[in-house]
Amino acid sequence: MAELLPALRGLPPAYLVGGAVRDMLRGAESVDLDIAVEGDAVAVARTLAERLGGEAREHERFGTATVRAGGVTADLATTRRERYERPGALPVVEPAPLADDLVRRDFTINAMAVGLSEDDVGELHDPHGGRTDLESGVVRVLHERSFIDDPTRLLRAVRYEARLGMRMDARTEELARTAAADGALETVSGPRIRDELMDLLRELEAPSALEHARELEIDSALHPSLAAEPELAAAAALGAAETGADRGLAALATLVARAPDELEPWVESLALARAERDAVMAAARHAPGLVRSLQGEVPDSVVHTLLRGEPPETLAVALALGAPGGPIHRYLADLRGVRLEVTGDDLLAAGIPPSPAVGRALEETLRRKLDGEVGGRDEELALAIEVARREEGG
Ligand code: ATP
Repeated sequence: MAELLPALRGLPPAYLVGGAVRDMLRGAESVDLDIAVEGDAVAVARTLAERLGGEAREHERFGTATVRAGGVTADLATTRRERYERPGALPVVEPAPLADDLVRRDFTINAMAVGLSEDDVGELHDPHGGRTDLESGVVRVLHERSFIDDPTRLLRAVRYEARLGMRMDARTEELARTAAADGALETVSGPRIRDELMDLLRELEAPSALEHARELEIDSALHPSLAAEPELAAAAALGAAETGADRGLAALATLVARAPDELEPWVESLALARAERDAVMAAARHAPGLVRSLQGEVPDSVVHTLLRGEPPETLAVALALGAPGGPIHRYLADLRGVRLEVTGDDLLAAGIPPSPAVGRALEETLRRKLDGEVGGRDEELALAIEVARREEGG
């Protein structure tokens, strides 16, 4: 602010808005600085960047810009009014004063602004009682149609509740329950669901958000086969920490694991990156089976075969579902790094003709090495040659 405020002098009125105001009032750090400008935000961004010796990146499609200068990063947007022509669709927007910009927001705690210009510096603009709600721990929508206009707010509401340790007021909760039951979420595109759902699932307090989502039947409103299991999501978060899995993807896989066939089209509709989608589906499909197949005395070669090629999310969800930790930790710490000291070239050099038998011989040798039956290059080579000859003969 010490850098920003002087640089805003003489420019159209600017306000700190959204999460940064909420977090500042809670005495918490905020990573994002969102600045709303009553005027041309892109032009203000350019001037700011010039004055601060930084740079402005313009996002033309949205009429917004990001300014980076020294220690400051701020997103600037023109204050605007929004109109929802169709529930769930993106709103039609037009420039409007601050009051309109605040009334279009999701919850009272996110609908406050702090003046950054001239004699308004430091003034709190709080027309919807956000500060009181923040102090009493209430997540409250600004109007009755809020969840219908934008049903992604259902996911945002439980996320803020969990993260901030707050609770919806009775009316907001009733509106949320009704919107979910009336199929409001069906009007929203998959990618918009994805963005909010992944934000929710990546929260440290995601299990508690899922618990309220389940209670309000937001989970089954996303898809009838979807069932939030907060305890499982919490266990998957621990599993993710142990295996290096992405916590959000592991949590998503727990939602899908009870009915992967029914839910695959829904996962597709989220349009995750391909690797992410593959990880979620692999974890959802394979983790339950691992709980059974890793029980008891399982040779290391079998552990290796079962887990090789699985993303860490599969291991995290398997742990969450109760798979024994021993073999999974052994795989991560040790088995997955085991390599043969001989290669196919060594077999060819020993006179084995090129054929699929070479690959199978190396596989078999690796299995025996994992189970501690061969050690060292000479033994590996002798075994691989023996297997390859046998395979060839067969
Ligand atoms: P955080 O990033 O900490 O989750 P944030 O409040 O900064 O919180 P963003 O998603 O970055 O969250 O949104 C910034 C602000 O934009 C919000 O505080 C809110 O005022 C407004 N906003 C975001 N999404 C919506 C929405 N779906 N409906 C209405 N207002 C929204």
